[in-house]
Amino acid sequence: MTRMLIIGPPGAGKGTQAARICERLGVPAISTGDIFRANIKEQTELGKEAQRYTDAGNLVPDSVTNNMVRDRLSHDDVRDGFLLDGYPRTVAQVRELDRILEANGVSLDVVLLLTADNEELVSRLLGRAQDQGRTDDTEDVIRHRLDVYDEQTAPVVELYEDRGIVTRVDGLGGIDEVTERILAALPA
Ligand code: AMP
Repeated sequence: MTRMLIIGPPGAGKGTQAARICERLGVPAISTGDIFRANIKEQTELGKEAQRYTDAGNLVPDSVTNNMVRDRLSHDDVRDGFLLDGYPRTVAQVRELDRILEANGVSLDVVLLLTADNEELVSRLLGRAQDQGRTDDTEDVIRHRLDVYDEQTAPVVELYEDRGIVTRVDGLGGIDEVTERILAALPA
């Protein structure tokens, strides 16, 4: 039973690693970015609202994001654990997640921080933009997303560090190598 978060700057490889960790641990991955992208593709009301922010590399407002996560965490499949990828990204989202988990009588076991330096991130994201045609992956938007991470999400990491539940892993290297590093670093 594992309840964990994966946090890191855009391009650190969170989504790729989250899928692999979830397979090993047998828990569902919940990616707010993926949920937004699916809604944008279907042009749902949520998708139309979110797209105004995601296209510019800004965060979707906490009220919208929090409601979406609250709903997702009420599903049966998260009862025995989950891996949240891309949430919480603001201090207000941390507070909301605390409330959601407390109401469910559970708490987080570990926050996995995946690190990489900025120039590596920019070049990875530019490569991904070409491969996947993501509309939030132009160079200007990428640099803006990195600034947003430093301003709004780095404080989230500090908060969890104060709680003593952060495990830091270097995201630089091959995909398999990083997965092995993560699995070795995770508390038993
Ligand atoms: P990601 O794939 O996690 O990088 O997310 C892509 C985009 O979705 C972000 O740049 C934000 O615009 C939006 N997004 C994802 N997760 C969140 C969140 N927790 N809070 C606000 N916006 C988010």
